[in-house]
Amino acid sequence: MNELLLTDKNIIWHPFTPLLGATDPLLITSAEGIYLHTHDGRKIMDAVSSWWVNIHGHSNKEIAQALAQQASTLEHVIFAGFTHEPAITLAKNLMTILPSNQAKIFFSDNGSTAVEVGLKMAFQYWHNQDIKKRKVIALDGAYHGDTFGSMSVGERGMFTDPFAPYLFDVSFIDFPTADNQQAVLAQFKNLLATNEVGAFIFEPLVQGAGGMRMYAPEFLDVLIREAQAHDVICIADEVFTGFGRTGKLFASHHLQQQPDILAISKGITGGTLALGVTSCSQKIVAAFTSSAFDKTFFHGHSYTANPIACAAANASFRLLTRESCREQIDMITREHASFRDKVKGHKNVKAARSLGTILSIELNTAEGSSYANALRKTIYPYFLERNILLRPLGNTIYVLPPYVITAKELHLIYDAIGAFLESVGV
Ligand SMILES: *Cc1c(COP(=O)(O)O)cnc(C)c1O
Repeated sequence: MNELLLTDKNIIWHPFTPLLGATDPLLITSAEGIYLHTHDGRKIMDAVSSWWVNIHGHSNKEIAQALAQQASTLEHVIFAGFTHEPAITLAKNLMTILPSNQAKIFFSDNGSTAVEVGLKMAFQYWHNQDIKKRKVIALDGAYHGDTFGSMSVGERGMFTDPFAPYLFDVSFIDFPTADNQQAVLAQFKNLLATNEVGAFIFEPLVQGAGGMRMYAPEFLDVLIREAQAHDVICIADEVFTGFGRTGKLFASHHLQQQPDILAISKGITGGTLALGVTSCSQKIVAAFTSSAFDKTFFHGHSYTANPIACAAANASFRLLTRESCREQIDMITREHASFRDKVKGHKNVKAARSLGTILSIELNTAEGSSYANALRKTIYPYFLERNILLRPLGNTIYVLPPYVITAKELHLIYDAIGAFLESVGV
């Protein structure tokens, strides 16, 4: 075995990876555009944007340059009592694309912390006003991250079982489908009627880790309108859906209503460095605007608003707002939709969905759909052997490419999926 891989095996613990029985990791030496290059000469298509973060392709020269320049100018500075141009420019840039009611930007360093900050802002919003609205509503099947607050508001199951005694209470409503909307609305209204609900958190339009499940913007609008009518803080977790994933810059732009708080991360730096952002409306800001020291938001991370990460985010923003990127997103949206319609009736397909640059194909299975579904053990190696990285969520195959992918490359992926569908006897 390669010496690096041997060292890896001995001393590194990989995320979401069993210590026994997992296949050895692939050693990547470089990456360019949508391709990952392995140490032994393979070239693998990154069809999942490296866990959904990479939007402009790997080793993008413009981002690399901005990042290198920032590293030799100002690499980092404490963000309490100090500030810097890259963070200010990024905040200004984000304001031009976030929902128009957003008033302030709070920095952290990943999606889970962006969600934690959003929850803490909402909880302290009520605390600062001495109002006891402590209930939280979330959706069944939600994923909001791996820290305790974000686990608390996420689907309870295998991932969270060891921590269940330490998670706070949350009321979950059913995931809305075409058939259950009236029932879900009734559950929601019953909870709101207690007047004890302080916050409602949701992944707008698409539940990512929950299986790339999609629901109607019109219905989310109904829920947000009801919640806000009861003075409930609405938190949109756009960690996954932000920066063009759903075809628009944010999933919230598919809505009529505006959330009070947004959490964003994944695509923000184009997939180069860790950065999280929580934005909020003036309503939230007002509850913290006080000369009373104890109403301060006492939260911060060592690397808050790291200048190199902010510079990378600004470079990524310039690429994202370019016409050519818009055209790419539109092209992927069209191609995904037409492949979705093509496979929809296949005997092995339970459901095919697409929204913007997200395509998901849920396979029929006797076992029932879940992350632990055994089909994942067939799907992952099948595509990897064909040099395509598709990391299924159980029996759900999803394609989530960097926006620089070509139509031709997309068709190679679709063809491989088509061949796979023919090969499985489920
Ligand atoms: C990935 C994800 C998170 C967590 O982000 P990390 O950077 O992995 O901590 C939170 N919410 C959603 C919707 C996500 O997809």
